[in-house]
Amino acid sequence: MSKIQMKTPLVELDGDEMTRILWQMIKEQLILPFVDLKSEYYDLGLVHRDETDDQVTVDAAMAIKRYGVGVKCATITPNVQRMDEYKLHQMWKSPNGTLRALLDGTVFRAPILVKGIEPLVRGWEKPITIARHAYGDVYRNVEIKTPAAGKAELVFTDENGGEIRETIAELQAGDIIQGMHNRQKSIRSFAHACFQYALATKQDLWFSTKDTISKKYDGLFKEVFAEIYEQEYAAAFEKAGITYFYTLIDDAAARMIRSQGGFIWACKNYDGDVMSDVISTAFGSLAMMTSVLVSPEGNYEYEAAHGTVTRHYYQYLDGQETSTNPIATIFAWSGALSKRGELDNLPDLNEFGKRLEKAVIRTVEAGTVTKDLAGMLQNVTPQVMNSRQFLEAVAKRLEADD
Ligand code: NAP
Ligand code: MG
Repeated sequence: MSKIQMKTPLVELDGDEMTRILWQMIKEQLILPFVDLKSEYYDLGLVHRDETDDQVTVDAAMAIKRYGVGVKCATITPNVQRMDEYKLHQMWKSPNGTLRALLDGTVFRAPILVKGIEPLVRGWEKPITIARHAYGDVYRNVEIKTPAAGKAELVFTDENGGEIRETIAELQAGDIIQGMHNRQKSIRSFAHACFQYALATKQDLWFSTKDTISKKYDGLFKEVFAEIYEQEYAAAFEKAGITYFYTLIDDAAARMIRSQGGFIWACKNYDGDVMSDVISTAFGSLAMMTSVLVSPEGNYEYEAAHGTVTRHYYQYLDGQETSTNPIATIFAWSGALSKRGELDNLPDLNEFGKRLEKAVIRTVEAGTVTKDLAGMLQNVTPQVMNSRQFLEAVAKRLEADD
């Protein structure tokens, strides 16, 4: 069997712990036997990030900007305990945060649906994708807990020395104040990413905020989306047979539960944080959630939504075979390879990604699963495999194109 050829390299971002082990296994068992893989490799494992003063993360982001498509393994975000464990020179920032800042993107998260694992919401037939704005609001806030009674004010001093001053409230000691911001440039990028992703995946787009209460702040989000839609996307949406729909966040939450799924829900930063956990849990598991960062320039970075599965890694280091679910990481590879095939006009490569996903889904539907899915599977008696055996079962189906 001749291997599928590639034109442009895929930017490969390796990572940490159990997912780094799975990464290698996935490449060996599911990618390299079928694809003549061209990749530009960046080692974002914490050891190498530390050795390069995190320059490798910046270089990887630049490579994604150059080539357009990257695939990323889960990585450790250092904390105090990791400083000690890895003898780090510095508490490096979250690689995902660094990549997002450089690529200026929006994160899209969608569950992987499998027959036999029923969503907790009975009406859901298709996935619901959350598009989360990844800049600002409460994540870049400034807070005060008042030490004494006094007056809280919102003050803006412009660069020419002009001033706007609004009274927030008269407060007592022990009260609380919070300041937040966002940037029009970031909101515009967010809107473009959402409209483009809806077109690319041919799904309706919902967007929700609380603009009835937050008239200027959430109002700007609503206006920017409406303006960009009318000026740049309305015609393309109509042609693709999809719709753009704005509603209040509470209305969207109620409609989402009553829906059949099959749409993208764009959310502000905090709403997206909460709602993506609601959606992933209701669909089954974090290990069955894909994640892709899409930049307004049209760059794509595919990854799994979960972390490095530290607890399993320690078992692995102890010499045990673990039953860690590799599906989200496989889907990061399949998504990236398909996209590469699409951009380079290589139908075989594009098709390979889809065949790989089909092989994974059919393996699970036949009852061959990792431990985390065993309890969720209905209609078949699950056979629990370790990660290596699970990947072998997928590889067999892929070979047989079953
Ligand atoms: P985690 O790696 O997602 O794992 C949390 C727990 O969820 C695991 O212990 C496991 O439960 C279950 N789980 C997650 N993925 C699984 C899979 N593929 N198969 C089977 N079970 C799975 O989160 P964490 O333990 O909080 O974080 C570990 C490290 O990952 C941290 O250093 C964090 O910084 C990093 N992280 C990275 C990313 C990223 O790169 N995108 C995202 C989140 C966290 P059981 O132990 O019960 O089996
Ligand atoms: Mg969260």
